[in-house]
Amino acid sequence: MRLLVVEDELEIQGFLRESLIEAGYAVDVASDGGAAETLARKTAYDALIVDLGLPDQDGIDLILRLRGLGIIAPVVILSARRSVDDRVRGLEQGGDDYLTKPFALAELLARLRNLLKRNVPATAELTRLTVLDLELDLLKRRATRSGEVLHLSPQEFVLLEYLVRNAGRVVTRAMILDQVWGMRIHPDTNVVDVHIYRLRGKVDTEGREPLIKTLRGVGYVLKGH
Ligand code: CA
Repeated sequence: MRLLVVEDELEIQGFLRESLIEAGYAVDVASDGGAAETLARKTAYDALIVDLGLPDQDGIDLILRLRGLGIIAPVVILSARRSVDDRVRGLEQGGDDYLTKPFALAELLARLRNLLKRNVPATAELTRLTVLDLELDLLKRRATRSGEVLHLSPQEFVLLEYLVRNAGRVVTRAMILDQVWGMRIHPDTNVVDVHIYRLRGKVDTEGREPLIKTLRGVGYVLKGH
C-alpha cells in the first residue's frame, strides 16, 4: 500500500516517512500542494496524510482540488488547528479523518488502518494477491506459501508485494528503488540485492519451487501464474 505525506515541516515529514515505512507502507512525500498534486496525478495512492498549513496553499484547497480530479483515496488531515470549527470544516471538505498536532504515532497508524480497511471493497481478491502457492494478505500484511507463514520484515513485505503485483514482468533495480524506497537511496547501493537475497531466503526455501528469478545485469522477475 502506498501513501502520500504532504507536510512542509521537514522534521515531521521525515519522522512520518520513516515511521510509515517502518510500519510496512510505501511512502512518498511532498512539501507543498503543487508537488503533492503532481505526485497524486501520476500515482494511485491508497491514502494521503495532509497538513493544512502548506506554504503555497491551504491543505483544504489541495484536498478539494484532488477530489475534483477524481482522486477518492482516504485523506487524514494532520493539523495544528484544533478548534471544533476547523475540524468540522476539514471533515466536511473532503477529509476522512482529522488528527491534531502534536499527535501520537500509534493513533495515526490505527486511524490509517481503519480508513484503509473501510476503503477496500469487501471482496477477498482485492485484499489478497496470489501467485501459485504464494499468498499476500494486504490488510494483515502477512505472506504465506502453501498456507505456511513467511516471517517477513515490513520492508520485505513491501518489496514482495511489488514483485507480486508485477508477476511475470521484469522489474529493474531502479524500478524497485523508486517504487519501494521512493528513490531515497543512491542507485549504486546494493540495498535491492541485499533485500532480494534475504527475501529469497524466506520465500524460496528448499523444497519449494523458486519464484524469484535474477536476470543478471537487468533485474528480477517473480514467476507468473
Ligand atoms: Ca505546515
